[in-house]
Amino acid sequence: MTLIESSNRFLVFKEKIMTNTHSLSLAIHGGAGQYDIKDESERIAHLRSVMVEGRRMLRDGALAIDVAESLAVLLEDSGHYVAGKGTGPNSAGEYELDACLMNGENRKIGAVCALKGYKNPICVARKVLDNTPHVMLAGRGAENFASAQNCTQILNPLDYYIIQGITRLPEDLDTGTIGVVVRDVNGHLAAATSTGGLLGKMQGRVGDSPLPGAGCWADERVAVSCTGQGEYFVKTAIAADISARIRYGGYTLQAASAGAIHDMGLQGGYGGLIALGRSGEPVFPYNSKGMRRGWIDAEGEIQASV
Ligand code: ASP
Repeated sequence: MTLIESSNRFLVFKEKIMTNTHSLSLAIHGGAGQYDIKDESERIAHLRSVMVEGRRMLRDGALAIDVAESLAVLLEDSGHYVAGKGTGPNSAGEYELDACLMNGENRKIGAVCALKGYKNPICVARKVLDNTPHVMLAGRGAENFASAQNCTQILNPLDYYIIQGITRLPEDLDTGTIGVVVRDVNGHLAAATSTGGLLGKMQGRVGDSPLPGAGCWADERVAVSCTGQGEYFVKTAIAADISARIRYGGYTLQAASAGAIHDMGLQGGYGGLIALGRSGEPVFPYNSKGMRRGWIDAEGEIQASV
């Protein structure tokens, strides 16, 4: 663990580094925030259960892109995070969701933003990836496409979403996006990110999560999923920046990821990310107080923490 502290909380970052070679490579997150003031035991148990399923899929030879989508669905459906069922309404009282899925093997991307009325934005993103020549669909177009693809609808948001009636930013604003990064037995990488965005966000606001290169990225050298104040992750194009630091700067994944979080903090933002490189080692740099996360360690054991 590397720890660099500063009086300016935006200059603080913490980095957890696993150094051994990993045969099974998988990490997930459930958002970054002030988790030291809450009891997170239920969410940690949930992260572990999702990791168990992911490890089983990898052992059975599942493709990285399929593991990323399946685990994102489990995280979306749980209601434990600000994604899927746990999404909060925007300032107009609507539930607008964003998601992105990227396959590092071929750089295929599927993304949706400001999507209303569908249970699993990550599944709609997968349909965009598989069944369109595009990378992202927004709003009504995304919804019409989801309907044509028979994606599961939410008929009554008041019966489905757990958080009801927040129409302004709460003082103890937390972020709770979910994400998955994975490397399969073929060595291919994939990343998924899904979110309800910031609670009380403006109608139509889209953050980093569905934007390839900002909140989500996978190529032949790295898979990244981010969480935090999305505007700052967009301003620093942080996920693609990590790949560029490795490619052009020759940095290790650890150094590239920590440097990218540091630069995002210099812009005034907070949050964190999970990333996997070709060797399969997961890294988890963040400058928030905590980041919910699960990973498989070098011994193949499941770990979860905030
Ligand atoms: N990054 C997300 C957004 O800005 C929020 C989060 O990570 O919880 O929409």
